[in-house]
Amino acid sequence: MLVAGGAGFIGSHVCEALLDAGHDVVAVDNFLTGDRANVEHLLGQDRFSLVEHDICRSPVPVEGPLSLVMDLASPASPVDFIRLSLEIMEIGSVGTRNLLELARAHQARFLLSSTSEVYGDPLVHPQPESYRGNVDPIGPRSCYDEAKRFSEALAMAYQRRYGLEVRIARIFNTYGPRMRPDDGRVVTNFVMAALRGQPLTLYGPGSQTRSFCYVDDEVRGLLALAWGPVSGPVNIGSPDEISIRQLAEVICELTGSDSSIVDIPMPDERLGDPAVRQPDISLARSTLGWSPTIDLREGLARMIPWYRAYLSAPSG
Ligand code: NAD
Ligand code: UDP
Repeated sequence: MLVAGGAGFIGSHVCEALLDAGHDVVAVDNFLTGDRANVEHLLGQDRFSLVEHDICRSPVPVEGPLSLVMDLASPASPVDFIRLSLEIMEIGSVGTRNLLELARAHQARFLLSSTSEVYGDPLVHPQPESYRGNVDPIGPRSCYDEAKRFSEALAMAYQRRYGLEVRIARIFNTYGPRMRPDDGRVVTNFVMAALRGQPLTLYGPGSQTRSFCYVDDEVRGLLALAWGPVSGPVNIGSPDEISIRQLAEVICELTGSDSSIVDIPMPDERLGDPAVRQPDISLARSTLGWSPTIDLREGLARMIPWYRAYLSAPSG
């Protein structure tokens, strides 16, 4: 199995799950937003290897047979949509194509980590896979949204033209240990602020919603999709929707923090911030028998100790 982006947040958990299931795993990563430390604990295992490589460069240097190529290599935080806009578009086009070619050469299955962002600021709620979305093609988020939409089109073209076995996961907001503490996403921002006793900042009204999936559930869904029968896109996320203000309150409660929760204007680079987001997971339930089992409180309770440890470490 090959996991591109294997030293990232979701990728490192996928590598662990594949190893636990008895597979050989090659993680490919250039550490653009990931960290070798995320897979350091796996490096001693015979069945695991880590290759430092940029997927935008061909060929991807892998030897031996491959039965599955998982494309989890892309920055995913809105903060990176400005900082790494051009890289994101190259990764979603050239990078994904190189991985599709690798899968084709090995007659392997290919799983793309797409995103709820293909629905943009949705006008249909919750979002089923059949919804074609409301994406601003030139806004600050467009580099990511359009890159992912292009990746999906590319994967489907490989399936139609070459008969490649393609799986497309539309991942919704996922959280858990090993998210980059400074990645700017809401769960990490709030947990770090709460643990530091700093204010939790609500961008805009705080009434915007998201639906957060704990990483173990997400990974179980991704692997069920990888081995399962569905070749079109499948939403893999939690249907439990919550406002960002409520999220801030829960995090303050679970961390035992007396941080304040403050309203600040939506930052300019967040223009087009979706007002709501919630997956319709009927397809995943019926075809994969998958649904999340870890609720937000339980997931946060599992995640918070990792950030406490990070902050108390000398480098934190
Ligand atoms: P992450 O940034 O933690 O992981 C991405 C990994 O890919 C990093 O290790 C990074 O170094 C690596 N990478 C980036 N560019 C690369 C390149 N050119 N060559 C090789 N490696 C490269 O992000 P994540 O949250 O783990 O996201 C993983 C995937 O899931 C991404 O494709 C992302 O778009 C998708 N996704 C994530 C979420 C979420 O909530 N975390 C939601 C929707 C979709
Ligand atoms: N958000 C916030 N405060 C923060 C970070 C994010 O209010 O410190 C909001 C953001 O405006 C968005 C939601 O939280 O509405 C989720 O943001 P995130 O960056 O996690 O990912 P998104 O779902 O927007 O891709």
